[in-house]
Amino acid sequence: MTIKQPPTRVAFVDLAAQYAAISEEIDQAMARVLQKCDFILGQDVQLFEEEFAAYCETDYAVGVDSGTSALELALRACGVGPGDEVITAANTFIATALGITHAGATLVPVDIDPQTYNIDVAAVERAVTPRTKAILPVHLYGQPADMDPLIALARKHDLVVIEDAAQAHGARYKSKRVGSFGHAAAFSFYPGKNLGAYGDGGAVVTSDPQIADNLRMLRNYGQRRKYHHELLGFNRRLDTLQAAVLRVKLRYLDAWNAARRAHAEQYSRLLADTSGVMPPIVPDYAEPVWHLYVVRVDDRDGLMAHLSSHNIAAGIHYPVPIHLQQAYHQLGYSRGSFPICEEYAEHIVSLPMFAELDQDSVEHVVESVRSFV
Ligand SMILES: *Cc1c(COP(=O)(O)O)cnc(C)c1O
Repeated sequence: MTIKQPPTRVAFVDLAAQYAAISEEIDQAMARVLQKCDFILGQDVQLFEEEFAAYCETDYAVGVDSGTSALELALRACGVGPGDEVITAANTFIATALGITHAGATLVPVDIDPQTYNIDVAAVERAVTPRTKAILPVHLYGQPADMDPLIALARKHDLVVIEDAAQAHGARYKSKRVGSFGHAAAFSFYPGKNLGAYGDGGAVVTSDPQIADNLRMLRNYGQRRKYHHELLGFNRRLDTLQAAVLRVKLRYLDAWNAARRAHAEQYSRLLADTSGVMPPIVPDYAEPVWHLYVVRVDDRDGLMAHLSSHNIAAGIHYPVPIHLQQAYHQLGYSRGSFPICEEYAEHIVSLPMFAELDQDSVEHVVESVRSFV
């Protein structure tokens, strides 16, 4: 008789396990680029852009060098810049805010919805001023923001909508892919994202040919034709090597997202009646892709230490809201400015989540959580 042993260690993400499963295809795809030496805006970039746009149900995708660049260039391509206010959620990753700031616009953070952790539409409405130019909702943790009321609000005030979909490749809102709702949407291919490159990368998707055209110039020295520079552009291109990796991985994305969903469902089922633990809430409109599986607990720091002593890697996304970051002290916010998001920042824990996680590990994590609370 064998006695089932709990896993000795549970990683937070395991990129090596993913590579092991697809290494042959990846190695071949990279070797093809090396042999052709078309490293800059090569054929795989163009093909990836076509495939990724189709995947996102948009007309165009423009590959760039990171998600941060995708956000900044999307704003610039939509004409957002100095003097313009851009409203976003206060509980996002710093890159959302940096994209706004580096586009030259003014960051206006707002509080979040207490159920979904996503931007609070009523708070957005209260933050609109005559200088507001854009709304930048974040599909945080892979959970779509509530787009219909945001789009309605944007129409009413004639605002640009840029989605931060860096954590939400493949998520759907009312059956449509995220990234297809705003004027443009930014994706990151940082290695740990649901669709990750083997280095930095990003893309902007849009169905507006003018915005796509602006983006292609902005990422490539402001030129349409070599050595003829129409605007002050940047060097922010997606590498052909990364595009080749992404083309292989895009074919697996739906299967990986389905595996994440199965893990999330198992977590939520097993944690359902655990007092002191609040699993995430999925609204009817949402088909999330579980970039992160985030629970709320009373004694967060105690639980983190407990999990760590059981060799379980957990995370906090994010411990310090944007408006309380040192880098943004000049905006003049303080503790109490956005109470919901501040309170959550002290109670959230992200449990291990990646496609290759197995059921025993999920059970082991839940056992450890239960033995603590
Ligand atoms: C990862 C991420 C980004 C930025 O992506 P990089 O590729 O790391 O620059 C932007 N927004 C959110 C919400 C992210 O999680």
